Amino acid sequence: MHNLRSYTVPLHRYIAMMDLQERNERLFYKLLIDNVEELLPVVYTPVVGEACQKYGSIYRRPQGLYISLKDKGKVLEVLKNWPERSIQVIVVTDGERILGLGDLGCQGMGIPVGKLSLYTALGGVRPSACLPITIDVGTNNETLLNDEYYIGLRQRRATGEEYHELLQEFMNAVKQNYGEKVLVQFEDFANHNAFDLLAKYSKSHLVFNDDIQGTASVVLAGLLAALRMIGGGLVDQTYLFLGAGEAGTGIAELIALEMSKHTELPVDDCRKKIWLVDSKGLLVESRKESLQHFKKPFAHEHEELKTLLEAVQSIKPTVLIGTSGVGKTFTQEVIEAMASFNEKPVIFSLSNPTSHSECTAEEAYTWSKGTAVFASGSPFDPVEYEGKTFVPGQSNNAYVFPGFGLGVVISGAIRVHDDMLLAASEALAEEATQENFDKGLIFPPFTNIRKISASIAAKVAAKAYDLGLASRLPRPDDLVKYAESCMYTPLYRSYR
Ligand code: NAP
Ligand code: MN
Repeated sequence: MHNLRSYTVPLHRYIAMMDLQERNERLFYKLLIDNVEELLPVVYTPVVGEACQKYGSIYRRPQGLYISLKDKGKVLEVLKNWPERSIQVIVVTDGERILGLGDLGCQGMGIPVGKLSLYTALGGVRPSACLPITIDVGTNNETLLNDEYYIGLRQRRATGEEYHELLQEFMNAVKQNYGEKVLVQFEDFANHNAFDLLAKYSKSHLVFNDDIQGTASVVLAGLLAALRMIGGGLVDQTYLFLGAGEAGTGIAELIALEMSKHTELPVDDCRKKIWLVDSKGLLVESRKESLQHFKKPFAHEHEELKTLLEAVQSIKPTVLIGTSGVGKTFTQEVIEAMASFNEKPVIFSLSNPTSHSECTAEEAYTWSKGTAVFASGSPFDPVEYEGKTFVPGQSNNAYVFPGFGLGVVISGAIRVHDDMLLAASEALAEEATQENFDKGLIFPPFTNIRKISASIAAKVAAKAYDLGLASRLPRPDDLVKYAESCMYTPLYRSYR
């Protein structure tokens, strides 16, 4: 830590951590676990974003498996090149939408590598059971295509049949090589592929999309905790989203599902309480024809509205969620409007990185005169407002996916079911304490994350058993204890 802290450039810390992972894996994990709050932003967002942008020039050794268009017909052979045989979690990207940074092609490899190191550090999945993969179908990023250090295929992205054939071959090879019980996490695919891949392979494989499902689970947990704080149920709220992409519609669907479970209302009626605004305005019935399929369920009867402010004034939401990727969109007028018809408006500004956040924590607390229940995607420092200190929660996916994955792995689940996502949300929401609420915080601190992951894993595994999707029998009596006992710990043995 002393050496790491001596690097003042964040990217240098990242490089030092990657070198350590290569040189002494156990020490890497020991350090990461013992200093999780300090090192999470180094091995994961935001620093990993810069690392991906410069991946070609900081490249030292391959850290994962690349499968390119040129491997068509031999994907299984390529998979067999990986030295470890027993794999439990694969994180795969095609690099088209890396964080909020767009198409980084093959250089997106930093993301599967980073996510899997969190699977190990936070969720206790053995490092040797983790496999990072990047599928190289080219890139449309001109800067990278012209960059002499670019590490991937120098061609524009393959699309359509050529793309889908390679993915199909990959998914077949995964099953053939590792069986049914390997979790394949799709990561940072562009939304024109992400929804379709998830829908297609969720029938035949154990697949999970963190950008859609993981985000949804964490945000729902935040909402459930917020409701414990301000009272009322999910069904008593009206929701408005700015942004109707992977994150926005993913969250909206999961809220509707949870609401339906607790009220016995049909999911479609629950969706009617949820409104979304995309780049063209409010999703409404009259726009339905031209909408992408994942938006259609939320196009309700209403006049067309172009701006967020008009939508806020007309719909009067109690919960406002930003998933647009565009900063400064929750303006003073928007937040003041939210505070004018809500005693405690719930405002989540989820877009990353910090500069893209819909508003800052300070803006949310100040403009709402200290009434907002606020959380954000990127971390913000505590805010002083009229003598009270508010601690904004960070709706970080790292709360859920490691524990979720652990639960899937230890139960030997063969499919992911939405109820398992709900179980994860409920488990996380329960971890927030009154002490946290007193500071306005709806997520528990990260320092306890391994304990939190074990509770999430236990709830997810229990759901998998209840649904008949678990293959590891008999079912352990105490799933929390069992989850903890399965977790990899980077212990140094004492030889005394
Ligand atoms: P996405 O699939 O590309 O969706 C973006 C959505 O925002 C689209 O519906 C787009 O409209 C809409 N949009 C863009 N500009 C807009 C504007 N000026 N006004 C209104 N709507 C606008 O992206 P995503 O994967 O959902 O990610 C969105 C953001 O959420 C990113 O910044 C990401 O970092 C963040 N995120 C946060 C978390 C977290 O906090 N844990 C998790 C996941 C994602 P069109 O559909 O009309 O193009
Ligand atoms: Mn992602």
